[in-house]
Amino acid sequence: MFKISYIFLISFLILSCSEESEMSNPFYEDYKNEFQVPNFKSIKIDHYLPAFEEGIRAHEKEIINISKNNENPSFENTIAELERSGELLTKVTAVFYNLLSADTNDDLDKLSEKIGPKLSAHRDSLFLNEKIFKRLKSIKTNEYSSLSSEQQRLTDEMIRNFEMNGANLSEQSKERFIEINKKLTELSIKFDQNVLKDTNNSELYISDEKELGGLSEKIKDQAKRLAKNKGYSSGWVFNPTRISMYPFLTSSTNRELREQLYKMYVNRGKNPNEFNNEEIVREMANLRLEKAQLMGFTNHAELSLQKTMAKSSNGVNALLNQVWEPAKAMAQEEIKDMQDLIQEEGNNFALQAWDWMHYSEKVRKRKYDFDSAEVQPYLEMDTIRDSAFELANRLFGIKFIQKNDIPKYHPDVDTFEVLDKNGDHLGVFLTDYFARPSKQGGAWMNTFRDQSNFDGRVRPIVLNVCNFAKPNDGEKAFLTFEHAETLFHEFGHALHGLLSDVDYPYLSGTSVTRDYVEFPSQLMENWIRHSDFLAEFAKHFETGKPIPKRLLEKMSSAGTFNQGFATTEYMIASMLDLAWHTIESPVENTEEFEQTLFKEIGKPVEIDSRYGSTYFGHIFAGGYAAGYYSYMWSEVLDSHAFEIFDKEGLYDSEYAEKLEDFVYSSGNSVDLMNQYKKFRGEEPNVSSLLRKRGLN
Ligand SMILES: [Zn+2]
Repeated sequence: MFKISYIFLISFLILSCSEESEMSNPFYEDYKNEFQVPNFKSIKIDHYLPAFEEGIRAHEKEIINISKNNENPSFENTIAELERSGELLTKVTAVFYNLLSADTNDDLDKLSEKIGPKLSAHRDSLFLNEKIFKRLKSIKTNEYSSLSSEQQRLTDEMIRNFEMNGANLSEQSKERFIEINKKLTELSIKFDQNVLKDTNNSELYISDEKELGGLSEKIKDQAKRLAKNKGYSSGWVFNPTRISMYPFLTSSTNRELREQLYKMYVNRGKNPNEFNNEEIVREMANLRLEKAQLMGFTNHAELSLQKTMAKSSNGVNALLNQVWEPAKAMAQEEIKDMQDLIQEEGNNFALQAWDWMHYSEKVRKRKYDFDSAEVQPYLEMDTIRDSAFELANRLFGIKFIQKNDIPKYHPDVDTFEVLDKNGDHLGVFLTDYFARPSKQGGAWMNTFRDQSNFDGRVRPIVLNVCNFAKPNDGEKAFLTFEHAETLFHEFGHALHGLLSDVDYPYLSGTSVTRDYVEFPSQLMENWIRHSDFLAEFAKHFETGKPIPKRLLEKMSSAGTFNQGFATTEYMIASMLDLAWHTIESPVENTEEFEQTLFKEIGKPVEIDSRYGSTYFGHIFAGGYAAGYYSYMWSEVLDSHAFEIFDKEGLYDSEYAEKLEDFVYSSGNSVDLMNQYKKFRGEEPNVSSLLRKRGLN
């Protein structure tokens, strides 16, 4: 996953001085440390609201000044000034929303309900400012040809952003537009809180050890600790989060309990309690439709896809259609293998969704004699993280130096200074890898500050957040192979932020289109999957010995195992997302809407959507509405891109240099497809992806 939407929304509101206030507030001051990392320790809950209010006020004043400037509109007096504006607001927004996702509490949650609508209204007042919009258009008509190519790109992007945010609307429509945005913000905040609360609200409590059949000591230990945290004096607790549920579904021999826990997971946001999201989902989809139609689009997807590489829902469907049938066909083969095994074991039931992980693991062991737990001793978390650092060093010459005097917001955070190939400061990198109740689920990258060069060299501060299981005190942390891939994935986003070398913050780092942004991140996963890379870096935590060849061979032949399932569950979610955002009349009932779609597309009963509507945070609380397909779109790029390293060498210097120049450093300062072609020498096509997933 990638940046949270709130920051995404106002990401370009950077820089310029706001007026001094009398009240002491860390946001009003220079952070006074070497790299200007927020002083988390001195920031208290009471500092946020005044800083937001002051930040909005100051930014509004700056915008009025820009719009009222008597000089002819120029890039310098309008666009560059917009880039400079909103310094305080950007500062407080970055801290607030990063903590709201990574380390929240009731106070922050409550505050977010107040702040979200304020920001949304502020954002509208900027985008609906006619004078600014006129100035932008005048720059396009008059000064454009004399601007640098990055300045031209910035001008175009800003104009398009204004248009997409309603700048061309009539007065009356603008009013409704603002109302809709405000409502959507409120609903998405509520949606997110409901998912977290409904997740924490349900649990599988086991008091009898006999019910723990099949579970390893390690899994039991974790469940025991969870029970203690939840206030039980004995027993074991599993909850409907992936980190707790996946090991249980994989190992537990108790089919009834597997079903119970699985159903808890897929029913999140659907339970008959105060955290139910069904109405919110329906209302949000309908409001998005109304907004799109207000702007002259047939549906929300057409509005939102305009700015992407796919360009329209037809573009998205063209990709999905090429993959859907091969994926389903492969899933049917996987089902057959598992069903055979069920029969062989003397059982008579038909495989269900809650059986999938359990039987696929058994088939994996049988077919490939490969137990994913065998790999874990070679995947000590710090070793894997260091191998990611080493990869970045070999490809781009950069270094990660751990520095403990950099401020952090939680004791689990690790802090690094990043040096470029000349040994100069490149940026700051923070990792926050362990799961805890105050953290949203999933993994993501975000920034505390974006890179830019136009007003002096501003270096990025980049954060990676994951949800890996925290070990007992004094023990080492180990990753599953999937978690090792996640670490590399988020590290790829981090590199995109750290290596960014553009002039304007609006175009910096990961500010690219949604269907391109997962390309630099997913590309990194290819290395950790490569057997030569693993052979060098995956070392046994006790003996230091490299991972045995026979294990690597087994892993590599098992590499495309279960891809029918993985592809199918992802694609169902993509189609669900697209369905919600291509409606052309309001939806009456969330559950019915889902079920109708699933029938239409021929969803296999044994596989559910990777996310159900009521906990599909990407599209109802994140920035991925009509964009969940992006991961696959990006995968077309990353599969095709990695083939060249597979062929020319994992650290091939010629392609590594092009990768830095045309992908990781250029942000959104140039046309993305052209850049890709410059790096790779040709256009991407879907066949590399089908090959990689074993679907061809
Ligand atoms: Zn991502």
